[in-house]
Amino acid sequence: MSDNRLLIDPYAAQDIDESVNRILRDLGNPEPPLRLEEVRELLRLDLTYYSKADLDLLDEISHRAVMAGSTIMSNAKRMWDVVTKVGLRGLLVPEQRQIFIDDDVPDLKKRFLIGHEISHDFIPWHRSLMMGDNNETISPICHNTMEAEANYGSRRLIFLGDRFAAEWRDTSGFDWKRVSAIGKTFGNTLTTTLWELVHSSPPDLPALGMISVHPRHNGFCKRAGSGKVAYFFGSGSFNTQFSNVTKEQVFSEICSYVGYRKQGPLGEGVQTLANVNGELFDFEFSTFCNRYDVLTYATMIGPHRRIVGF
Ligand SMILES: [Zn+2]
Repeated sequence: MSDNRLLIDPYAAQDIDESVNRILRDLGNPEPPLRLEEVRELLRLDLTYYSKADLDLLDEISHRAVMAGSTIMSNAKRMWDVVTKVGLRGLLVPEQRQIFIDDDVPDLKKRFLIGHEISHDFIPWHRSLMMGDNNETISPICHNTMEAEANYGSRRLIFLGDRFAAEWRDTSGFDWKRVSAIGKTFGNTLTTTLWELVHSSPPDLPALGMISVHPRHNGFCKRAGSGKVAYFFGSGSFNTQFSNVTKEQVFSEICSYVGYRKQGPLGEGVQTLANVNGELFDFEFSTFCNRYDVLTYATMIGPHRRIVGF
């Protein structure tokens, strides 16, 4: 199954980690939130926001991209064609040291997107390519390897390398208020923070995350489309030991304890999942609704303990 697999080669991840650490060191290991404008200044990258309505600016971008030898632009006479046809959200033209970002993207998402375009620039094997991104490629679960690498780079950057995991470890117990607070400290959305929390989970603590619709109410999580789950992701050890677990299975576990509330904590439960060898383990699940999406976090407690009734 491919739902929760991160398609990043460990050596590539290590190279990206080193590049991010070098950038952070060059910036004097700044305190959160990382100011991405300082990163761009260091890397000499300009940023321009474009609007689909600004045809002159789109023409200008198109002109620069064509001069830079774009493969994307050669098929489209005008940038406008690209923006509308592939839903372009961000673009890096490395030779021109330019990032272009769609102004319609909400502010906190812009941050992840800018980090993504910056990553395309500092990841050495991406550098020779001009990268155009649409909603598909900037989705955190994009299965195109280079896009997954740029998403990984963006996360490492905006959560300051290992700093997030270290700060999280210093506090005890899971609580959505704390996830939200630490997310704000680093200047990132609750969803991105959940993503980082799951991926930075230590190997002995398999963890999963899910972004889904509300089991009891319609109208939440538009990005799930016609399905119930937008994203299902796991930590490294979860992906190895529980690759058999499906998103449908996790969603049905969530349905078993979630109540009718529409906002805030929706419920908690100890749920049992089998690993690839069929051995049973208990996980502590917790679900939260932030008005748009339903977010779930779960970590392994240990081998399943049968509760015997008296
Ligand atoms: Zn990209």
